[in-house]
Amino acid sequence: MSHLQIRSKLPAVGTTIFTVMSGLATEYKAVNLGQGFPDFPMSAELTALVSEAMSNGYNQYSPMPGWMPLREAIAEKIDFLYNSSINPDTEITVTPGGTYALYTALTTVLQAGDEVIVFEPGYDSYIPNIIVNGAIPVRIDLQFPEYKINWEKVRQQITPKTRMILLNSPHNPTGAVLREEDIQQLRKLVQNTNIIIVSDEVYEHIVFDNVKHQSILRYPDLAQRSFVCFSFGKLYHCTGWKLGYCIAPEPFTSEFRKVHQFNCFSCHTPSQVALATFLGNKDAYLSLGSFFQQKRDYFLQLMKNTRFTMLDSKGSYFICAQYDRISDESDKEFAIRITKEFGVAVIPVSAFYQDGTDNKVVRFCFGKKEETLEMAAERLSRI
Ligand code: PMP
Ligand code: GLN
Repeated sequence: MSHLQIRSKLPAVGTTIFTVMSGLATEYKAVNLGQGFPDFPMSAELTALVSEAMSNGYNQYSPMPGWMPLREAIAEKIDFLYNSSINPDTEITVTPGGTYALYTALTTVLQAGDEVIVFEPGYDSYIPNIIVNGAIPVRIDLQFPEYKINWEKVRQQITPKTRMILLNSPHNPTGAVLREEDIQQLRKLVQNTNIIIVSDEVYEHIVFDNVKHQSILRYPDLAQRSFVCFSFGKLYHCTGWKLGYCIAPEPFTSEFRKVHQFNCFSCHTPSQVALATFLGNKDAYLSLGSFFQQKRDYFLQLMKNTRFTMLDSKGSYFICAQYDRISDESDKEFAIRITKEFGVAVIPVSAFYQDGTDNKVVRFCFGKKEETLEMAAERLSRI
C-alpha cells in the first residue's frame, strides 16, 4: 500500500461496463450478449498467414507508421470503396486497435479548454478521452428511439471554442447509421470553421438493408479536416488482435505520429504482414454486411417470443431493446438481474450516457453463433 496520493485525471470513471458484464457473465455462466465480440472462429486462412509470417522471420519492429505493404493495401481498399486517393506514406498510420487510434487523434488535436461535440449514447471511451486531455465534452442526445442527430441542436452548441465533432457510424450502441442528409448538414455546419472531425468507422462494412456506408472519406471537403479510425478486430472477427488504423491528411498525420511514436511506436509485425495479403480478398469484407444482417434478422425472429420491444438496427452488430413491458427497474438493475437469474448478459444503455440517462433500454450483441442466439432467446422468453 502506498501512502502517496495521485490526483485522478478521470475522477468520475470506474471499471467499464463491458468488464463488469463480462465478469458477471462468467461468474453466472450466462450467455454473453453483452460485450461486443464474435464467438465464432476467425478465418483459418488469415491465422495461417500470421504463422507463415512468423516462420518467415517477420518478428522484429515494423516501421513506426506501419508495415508499408499493409498501408498500400489499405489505400487500395479505400480507393476501391470510397473513390478516395489516400497516400499510404503520409496519410495512414497503423495502430494497436481502433480505440487507440481515436485516443491518439484526440490527444493530437485537443488543448485544455477546447470543446468537443459528442453524441450520447456513445461509445464509452470518447468522453474520458476528451477529459483526460483537459478538453470539455459538449454532449448532445441522439433523438430517442431512432437515435438520429438533431442538426439544429448541434448548430446551437457550436461556439468559438468548438474544436472537434466526434462521429460514429454505424453506431455503437444503437445500430443507427448516418445518411446522406446528415452528411449534407454536417458539411454546412463545418464549412468556414476550424472544426476537426473525428469519425469512428470501425463498423464500416456492417451496414444492412442496402444502405450505403457514409464514410467521411467519400467527401474530400470533409476528409481534409478529419481523422477517420478503423479496426481490424471488427473487420476480421479478431477483437483480441487489437489492430486498426487512422487515416488523416498529411499535416494531421505527422502530428498524430508524434504522439503515437512515443506511446506504442509500432504494432505487431506478423499480423500486419498477414493482413497486407489478406486485404486483397475483397469478398471477405464485402460479404460482412449480409453475414451480419442474417444474424440480425434471425435474432429478431427469435426475440418475437419475448416481451422485449426491439428497436431498429441498421448497422454494427448491436441491437437495442426496450423492456418496459417486463419491468420498471433501472436498466443497470435489470441487466444485472437477468444475467444472474436468467443467464443472459446484456449491456444497459445508460452506461453510454455520462449522466446515466435511463430510457429503459438494453443492448444485445448479435454477432454470435446461431446456437448462442437461440439459447439466449429461449432464456429471454422466460422473463
Ligand atoms: N469504436 C467503437 C464504436 C467500437 O465499438 C469499438 C469496439 N470496441 C472500437 C471503437 C474499438 O475497436 P478496437 O477493439 O479495435 O480498439
Ligand atoms: N466494442 C465492444 C463493445 O462495445 C467492446 C469494447 C470493450 O470491451 N472495451 O461491446
